[in-house]
Amino acid sequence: MVDVAIVGSGPNGLAAAVTMARAGLSVKVFEAADSLGGGTRTQEVTLPGFRHDICAAVHPMALASPFFRAFELNRRIELIVPEISYGHPLDGGRAGIAYRDMDRMVAALGVDGRAWRAMFAPLLQRLDGVIDFTQASLLRIPQDPLAVIRYGMRTLLQGTPAWNLGFTEDVAPAMLTGVSAHAMGRLPTPATAGAGLLLGTLAHAGGWAVPRGGSQAIAQAMAEDFAAHGGQVELSHKVESLAEVKEATGAKAVIFNTTPRALVEMAGDELPERYRRKLASFKYGAGVCKVDFALSGPVPWLAEELRKAPTLHLGGSRESIAFAENEVLAGRHPENPYVLAVQASVVDDSRAPQGQHTFWAYTHVPAGSARDCTEDIIRAVEKYAPGFRDLILASRTETAQDVGRYNPNYIDGDISSGAVTLRQLLQRPVMAPDPWRTPVAGIYLGSASTSPGPAVHGMGGWFAARSALKNTFHLPVPELGISTP
Ligand SMILES: Cc1cc2nc3c(=O)[nH]c(=O)nc-3n(C[C@H](O)[C@H](O)[C@H](O)COP(=O)(O)OP(=O)(O)OC[C@H]3O[C@@H](n4cnc5c(N)ncnc54)[C@H](O)[C@@H]3O)c2cc1C
Repeated sequence: MVDVAIVGSGPNGLAAAVTMARAGLSVKVFEAADSLGGGTRTQEVTLPGFRHDICAAVHPMALASPFFRAFELNRRIELIVPEISYGHPLDGGRAGIAYRDMDRMVAALGVDGRAWRAMFAPLLQRLDGVIDFTQASLLRIPQDPLAVIRYGMRTLLQGTPAWNLGFTEDVAPAMLTGVSAHAMGRLPTPATAGAGLLLGTLAHAGGWAVPRGGSQAIAQAMAEDFAAHGGQVELSHKVESLAEVKEATGAKAVIFNTTPRALVEMAGDELPERYRRKLASFKYGAGVCKVDFALSGPVPWLAEELRKAPTLHLGGSRESIAFAENEVLAGRHPENPYVLAVQASVVDDSRAPQGQHTFWAYTHVPAGSARDCTEDIIRAVEKYAPGFRDLILASRTETAQDVGRYNPNYIDGDISSGAVTLRQLLQRPVMAPDPWRTPVAGIYLGSASTSPGPAVHGMGGWFAARSALKNTFHLPVPELGISTP
C-alpha cells in the first residue's frame, strides 16, 4: 500500500514521482515498458557501441525548465551546451547558423542581423518572464506582463502571413520556420510561432543542450533521486484501469502520465460525463517517421559550419517548409519534407565508436502513416551533404504506426501527445487554471497532453504533483535540489 501511484515514467511521470517522494509520501510508479524514461531512452538499436536516442535527443528546456532548475539537473548530469544551437542548410552550399552568441549570429546574418536582434534581444532581456508565461497554464496572471506583451506581439507577427516583415533575405526567415516546425502545426499560426520564438530565444540563452551519453541520463538522474527517497517502481506493467491501481496500491492520489484518451479508457464512469466529453474531444496531431543511422564517419555537409551543429533543420526555404508541413496536416506525404536531424556525436564522443557517428532524424507524416520514410530522409540529407548515403553502416526505421505502438502516449505517431494549436495551448487538456487536476478527488493528469505541452521539461508532472500535494495531502511543495535531503 502506498500514498501515491503514478501511471507512466516519462519525464513528467518521473518529475511527479520525485516531487511526491521528496514530500515524504510513499510512491509507486507503474511503467508499461521494460525500462523507465518514456521519451528519454537511449539504446543501441543499430550496431553495438552506437547509442541512439529513441525519442528526444536535444534539450532546449534542460537548463530552462523551472522543474529542472529546482532539481539542479545540470549538477547531476553533464549537459553539453554547443556553440551552435541549430543549423539550417540552404541551396548553393549556404547555411543559416544559430550561434548561441547573439553578436556572432547577428554578424553572420549580415543585412538581417538587426531584425534578428530586434526579434530576440527583448525576449532575452525578460527571459524569466517568458519562461514563467510559457511553462505553465496560460490561464493565470503572469509574473511579468511586459515579457508577455513582447512575446505576444512577436508571436502575432510570426504567426500570420506578415511574417516576412522586417527581413530582406531568405536565411533568417528559413531559420525561424525551421524552429517553429518543431511544433508540428500549421505554418504560419500563433501556436507554431509561439513555440518557435521560445525555442529560438533559448538558443541564445542557456542553449540547446545535449546530455552526455544520451537522453537516458535525464531519466536516470530522476530515477536515482526517486529511489533515494524510497520510491518503488514496477516495470512491464501496463495499467488497464483506475480500479486496478487503486486496488493494488490503495493510493489516495493517482497521477496519470498519459493522454486524456487513455485516462478516459482507464477511469471510465468514475469521471463526470461533462469532463469525460471534454477529454474525448482533445485532438491528436500529425505523426513522425523516425530513422536512426549508424555512420562510418561525420556527415559531409557542404556548408562546413554545419559539421559542428548537433541539431539541423532540413527542408529549405521558409515557403518550402511551410508548404511541406501544411501538406502533412492535409493528410499527404510531401515530396520535399521537413526533416529534423540530430548529430549528437559531433559534440559527444560517447555515442559511437571512435571516428564513427550516430545520426537521428525524423520527418512529419500524416497521423497513423505506415510509410517508411528512410529514403525520403536520406535524399533530404544528400541534397546538402552529398556522400551521406555511403557512410551508412546500419539504420533502423520506425513508422508513425511503430512510434504509436512503442509508447501509447504517441497516438498514431503524434510525439506531442496532442495537436499543438492555439486552442489546445489554452485548453490542455481543459480550460482551467489547474488543468492537471480532474473533477474526481485524488485523480491527476500530468503529461505532455497537459500544460505547458510537449518536450522534456517535467513541468506537466511537476504541476500535477503540486496540485496533488495541495488538494489531496495539504502538504507544501518540497525542495528538489541536490543538497536537500
Ligand atoms: C521521436 C521523438 C523525438 C522527440 N524529440 C524531442 C527532442 O529532441 N526534445 C524534446 O524536448 N522532446 C522531444 N520529444 C518529445 C518528448 O519526448 C515528449 O514530449 C516527452 O517525453 C513527454 O513526456 P511525458 O512524461 O509526458 O510522456 P512520455 O515521455 O511519452 O512517457 C509516458 C510513459 O508512460 C508510459 N505509459 C503510458 N500509458 C501507460 C499505462 N497505461 N500503464 C503504464 N505505463 C504507461 C509509457 O510507456 C511511457 O513510458 C520527442 C519525442 C519523440 C517520440
